[in-house]
Amino acid sequence: SRKMVISNDVTKLERTDAMRRDFVANVSHELKTPLTVLAGFLETVRELPLADEERMRYLGLMDQQSKRMEHIVSDLLVLAHIEADPKAPGDAPVDIARLMRHLRDEALGLSAERHAISFTIEAGLSVTGAEGELASAFGNLLTNAVRYTPVGGEIHVRWWTEEGGAVFSVSDDGIGIPVEHIPRLTERFYRVDRSRSRDTGGTGLGLAIVKHVLQRHEARLSIRSQVDRGSTFTIHFPPHRSVPARAVDA
Ligand code: ADP
Repeated sequence: SRKMVISNDVTKLERTDAMRRDFVANVSHELKTPLTVLAGFLETVRELPLADEERMRYLGLMDQQSKRMEHIVSDLLVLAHIEADPKAPGDAPVDIARLMRHLRDEALGLSAERHAISFTIEAGLSVTGAEGELASAFGNLLTNAVRYTPVGGEIHVRWWTEEGGAVFSVSDDGIGIPVEHIPRLTERFYRVDRSRSRDTGGTGLGLAIVKHVLQRHEARLSIRSQVDRGSTFTIHFPPHRSVPARAVDA
């Protein structure tokens, strides 16, 4: 009935509003924590007579906190930009193998530590869309694979086709994700448990960005994981965005 429809709409509006309020509260909290730590170190450096070496150590810690805030703000900007962009992502072909190789170097550059990352993506295999957005999405998946996999672990990037659509997967043999968390991973600021792994410096925004980018490309993300065994993130592109690999020329 009509009444039903109206009350449904109201509930939806209320829910959106509550989500927005939650989001603002979350952003404030996520920024306040490093800011408080930063202010604490700043006061120490200003108030205490420190040896040069000690002072350098504090400055290093302050640097870490400010980088963390910078990281959060830049992820928020990416998310805001994607959400506010009314244009469809377009249909320029994006060479996924080339993109992935570039992103791998960036992901591995996160630390001096090394992981074995193997690729089975043919050069020339493309999907259509916005290259910058796709780089954010794939970059987040690769960075997570590196972050949540102990050094020496293996990360595989694969592709195949399903019903005419290109499918890509990023899998790792890292710490995995308890099954009850999987449905919530793409929520903003959702993180499984900060203490279970080395401090990864994550923001909890990465998979929210992935989800938005893929939605705009009519693509779908599926997540499979097992604790202590590893995780696989699979992206399904629709056929109209999938361009078959051309003959490899390099
Ligand atoms: P973060 O910045 O914390 O990595 P994300 O949104 O990218 O935020 O991921 C959300 C949470 O999902 C992470 O905090 C982590 O607990 C979990 N996660 C994501 N990718 C992986 C992975 N490859 N292996 C294990 N856990 C993962």
